[in-house]
Amino acid sequence: MKVVLENVTKIFPSRDKKAGGEVVAVNNFNFEIPDGKLIGLLGPSGCGKSTTLYMISGLQKLSSGHIYFGEEDVSDLSPENRGVGLVFQNYALYPHMTVKQNIMFPLENLKGSDKLSKEERIERAREAARLVQIDELLERKPSELSGGQQQRVAIARALVKMPKVLLLDEPLSNLDARLRLQTREEIRRIQRETKITTVFVTHDQEEAMSISDMIVVMKLGVIQQIGAPQDVYDNPTNLFVAKFLGTPPINVFNGEVKNGKLYIGKDAVMDVKLEDKKVFVGIRPEGFILNPNGVLTNDLLSVEVMGRDVSIVSSNPASANPTIRSIIDADSKIDRDAKTISFDIKPNKIFLFDAETEERIYF
Ligand code: ADP
Ligand code: MG
Repeated sequence: MKVVLENVTKIFPSRDKKAGGEVVAVNNFNFEIPDGKLIGLLGPSGCGKSTTLYMISGLQKLSSGHIYFGEEDVSDLSPENRGVGLVFQNYALYPHMTVKQNIMFPLENLKGSDKLSKEERIERAREAARLVQIDELLERKPSELSGGQQQRVAIARALVKMPKVLLLDEPLSNLDARLRLQTREEIRRIQRETKITTVFVTHDQEEAMSISDMIVVMKLGVIQQIGAPQDVYDNPTNLFVAKFLGTPPINVFNGEVKNGKLYIGKDAVMDVKLEDKKVFVGIRPEGFILNPNGVLTNDLLSVEVMGRDVSIVSSNPASANPTIRSIIDADSKIDRDAKTISFDIKPNKIFLFDAETEERIYF
């Protein structure tokens, strides 16, 4: 089922009653989620991810705009009538019910032609449990399950009604690192198998990048960029997006274009066909090439071995951050006692941004 958001806006009265005023949690969103795809809503806390998800689910009303499932305008439909499955950060399972009863629960109140017999309900619960690989745990109580297993039950419960759209709000936040990795792969597999159009909300860029067909990067209720994860990483539209994606994060310098050259401090690092101006220069950690005669020279602080790669930590007076991180092949020869280190820069890993607007400058 294709999902379309058209000029979707949500305005809340401010929670700060004294200050008054209102919060534009979601500001004129327009995007289309293609049928059967998994899209990641990504951005820092408070940027409007949950609000967007709740409007897609029907739990929250739109202040203006429309949401379509396929060709149908569902903007005024209640959650029950939209055919969505919801999974939240905290699993919210019924503690006194078994896993099987928890999964079957959404099927209890089906009416009319949708009504299912007990046998059918059990069979559907078994199917959903099989899909998330907890079919051995059906008779247990939630308290007898690990966090990861509980979240699988919550996903099975969301899937049991065969939703047209699956909505996940930070579903992995309560899991430890290893389980988080495993469960996210699991969600990806389930989504591929069921082909249910899925919206996955997270503030974790790595999570969103790894799992999504398409990401929507948001900031303060405004969409910054939409695209395939790799495309957004390779081609950020502004400094915010460039900084939000990637670990270690992009290195940012205060730069200047003068007489057709880009300067970082005293170093002229590149020819650019631009008029003179101040810019931010972003260089991805993997964008550096060791070269004793390279265009950029930094003060060497330390070299961290990470197995496959080494991470060189250096500094430069023109850097916007105290340290600069460069990821280099572990086979590279590095003089750890040197005071300085010089690099060339890979042309596809360096980005320029307007010093005032922070919008990308193409050159
Ligand atoms: P996210 O999920 O990205 O962290 P939210 O969608 O929860 O962000 O919130 C977006 C903005 O809307 C925040 O500024 C938040 O404080 C505000 N907000 C969310 N829900 C309400 C509400 N019920 N009343 C007032 N403000 C709200
Ligand atoms: Mg949220």
